[in-house]
Amino acid sequence: MLQKLLERNPWRMANAMRRDPAPIPVVVCVDVEPDTRHVARDGRPPWRGYAATVELLDEWRSRLEAATGRPVRWAWFLRMDPSIADGYGTPAWAVAHAPARAERLTLAGDALGLHVHCVRWGADESEWIVDHGDPDWVAHCLDVGFAAYRDALGRACTLLRIGDRFLDEATLEVVARLGVRIDLTMEPGLPPHPLGNLNDRRTGVFPDFRAYPRVPYRPSRTDLRVPASPEHDGTWLLPVTTGAVTDTEALPAPPLHAASIGAGMPAYERLGLWHSPEVFRRIVQQVLAENRRAPYLVAVMRASHTVTGARDTIAANLEFLRTHPLVSRFAFTTPEAALEAATAPAGDGPESSSS
Ligand SMILES: [Zn+2]
Repeated sequence: MLQKLLERNPWRMANAMRRDPAPIPVVVCVDVEPDTRHVARDGRPPWRGYAATVELLDEWRSRLEAATGRPVRWAWFLRMDPSIADGYGTPAWAVAHAPARAERLTLAGDALGLHVHCVRWGADESEWIVDHGDPDWVAHCLDVGFAAYRDALGRACTLLRIGDRFLDEATLEVVARLGVRIDLTMEPGLPPHPLGNLNDRRTGVFPDFRAYPRVPYRPSRTDLRVPASPEHDGTWLLPVTTGAVTDTEALPAPPLHAASIGAGMPAYERLGLWHSPEVFRRIVQQVLAENRRAPYLVAVMRASHTVTGARDTIAANLEFLRTHPLVSRFAFTTPEAALEAATAPAGDGPESSSS
């Protein structure tokens, strides 16, 4: 309802802008991995999507800097895990095959995190198995990824996105031990099964994120859904922005537990840059209409989307943000900066004084 009002009444947006000039962090996460869903075990096919996405986002960096009047930073999540080692001879192929690119993105101020898929080659089955049912394998994949990142980039990795949005309490222990400051795996409101037509062989359960907070928090060790006490110093979860994609689902008020919308399967989706402009716009407008104290957006994409038919759609969605009435408040930034803004004490935000 409010979303429709905002869409119909641009002056309301302008009004909101005058009343509250606080920046709205926008984090664009790119998963840098092979162009195909599964890693080719021979032939080392090039990661065309990585090169193409860097080129595309370079163009948009200057356009969005002009529109926002602020520096634009992207967040790249480099895939490093045993399956990459299997296909490319090293888990750090993302850096090893294009070291100058990783260096250039770092120099541009972008964030470089790690993207890990916990897949195992099934020799008997002759196919990749998504092996989330084996906590030792999950821990091994993370260990391999973090060691590869440190060796390739000469610094410890502090940002993580796990493939297939997998996260559970045992995995969080590993993630915290590895020194992750911010994990961006969680997609609140999404159902416990893969979206789209993924029908991989898999073990374990698909996380049920329907009852998860939609704001950043440090989870309790015993229940990922529950924010820990304030003195807890573990890993932060910075949830990917999600929204309802049907008319019937209303979004809950803060603290935004998706479960509070009641029974049934909420038709939530991620803020995916490959989504149709209608879906992308809808989710952005929902979040901005929620009247959060410290709104932020975390959008996601796979580098391969740029070379598998979604390039024009991604550009259309970025253009929507560039021409948005609130563009002067958008700050395309790193997960660290977004987390800092989203968790600043209430007194720091201009909204604390609003009635
Ligand atoms: Zn992935």
